[in-house]
Order: sequence, then structure tokens, then C-alpha cells
Amino acid sequence: MAYICQDCTYKANKRFPEGRCPACGSFNIRSDRSKEDVKQEKDKKTPLEIFIMVLVWGVLIWGVWDRYFSG
Ligand SMILES: [Zn+2]
Repeated sequence: MAYICQDCTYKANKRFPEGRCPACGSFNIRSDRSKEDVKQEKDKKTPLEIFIMVLVWGVLIWGVWDRYFSG
């Protein structure tokens, strides 16, 4: 989470003290997700996605193998 002052574009990763910009004292603060946060969140899902992908591919390959290469 990034906190950005709308008036002077001061940016910090922590919440501003008392909810106001330390640089200009403005209360016009916008909290925004940085790219790092989004990336980390996406990485958390990846093991499950990989598991599902491996499972789907495994079933597909097993099906093709069973159909063409056995019996
Ligand atoms: Zn500011």
C-alpha cells in the first residue's frame, strides 16, 4: 500500500501520521496499491494456479497417452 499526497505528490509506503502529508500538511491523501503489492498478491495465488494447470495438463496428457499409445 502506498500513500500519495494529491497536493505535492509526496509518496510513502506507510500511512501518514495523523492522516496528513508530512511534507505539506495536506489531508488530501490517496492510498494506492503499488506494483510491488499487486505482484506479491499475484504470486500468492500462483501455487494453486500451477497445481490446477499441472492437474489439467496431466489429465490431458494421460488421456492422449491412453488413447494413442496403450492397448
Ligand atoms: Zn503533500
